[in-house]
Amino acid sequence: MECDTCREWMSLWLDNRLTQGEIRQVESHTATCPACRALLDAIHRVDRLLAAAPMMSPAPGFTARFQARLSSRRRRYRTWAGLVTLALATLALSLATMILLAIPGLTLWENLSTSGMLAQSIGLLLDLAQACVALLKLAWLIVGALARGLRHPIFIAYIVATAILTVVWAQVVTRRVLAHRPAIT
Ligand SMILES: [Zn+2]
Repeated sequence: MECDTCREWMSLWLDNRLTQGEIRQVESHTATCPACRALLDAIHRVDRLLAAAPMMSPAPGFTARFQARLSSRRRRYRTWAGLVTLALATLALSLATMILLAIPGLTLWENLSTSGMLAQSIGLLLDLAQACVALLKLAWLIVGALARGLRHPIFIAYIVATAILTVVWAQVVTRRVLAHRPAIT
């Protein structure tokens, strides 16, 4: 028997694919060939080690703990994503509101400074500041509600309410500006 054939059959032997006659041939070759003998011994040692090693299994409760940790991480991620979206939406709405207010405000200021109605313009600015405070209070209430876990319905309601407030506010401001504009002569 050739050494190459013998080594090929050794791996077949490990897979239990040798007949008794073939096993005897391998054994008679390894009895006279020290190199193949050493290889066969090594293979048998590894095989015995693998057979003796206990099956690795996770610690009791590992799967439950892992899933709990995974879902808590997902929950935390959703909360943060919601808060970041809320913050960005608030920022965008505030910017839009400021721009909407700044344009008529500047026009108003221009008209007032030429017509001497400064007192009225200051009154209007105070009104705007009060409206600003009311909006901030609403935002704070909504953030508090969100922190307590009412995420989606409140978030949508907040967006709708802020959008409506912005539109209404812009319309009120525009109307006041038009009302205060001095008549062109
Ligand atoms: Zn050999």
